[in-house]
Amino acid sequence: MNIAKKIKYINNYWSRLICAIFNIAAFTFSNRIFFGSHYYRNNERIIKHELKHVEQFYTIKFFPIKYLWELIKNGRNNKYEKEAILAEKEV
Ligand SMILES: [Zn+2]
Repeated sequence: MNIAKKIKYINNYWSRLICAIFNIAAFTFSNRIFFGSHYYRNNERIIKHELKHVEQFYTIKFFPIKYLWELIKNGRNNKYEKEAILAEKEV
């Protein structure tokens, strides 16, 4: 899937605030990756992780609802996060 050029990388007051509240490095919504700090922008592991979420967004129907349900059921150790964690190790 060639979506790399459409990705928007966002690091602003709100992205940093939300990341701080949830104690996360970054989060993704659709083709937008929001960072908790400018340091994470060049972190390959985090980028690979978030790009997997972008892919999930575009390939899984009703992904935001399904993700939320998984998050409620299984917390941060849910199946979508496990998939993203695996993607961190891909070359
Ligand atoms: Zn994740």
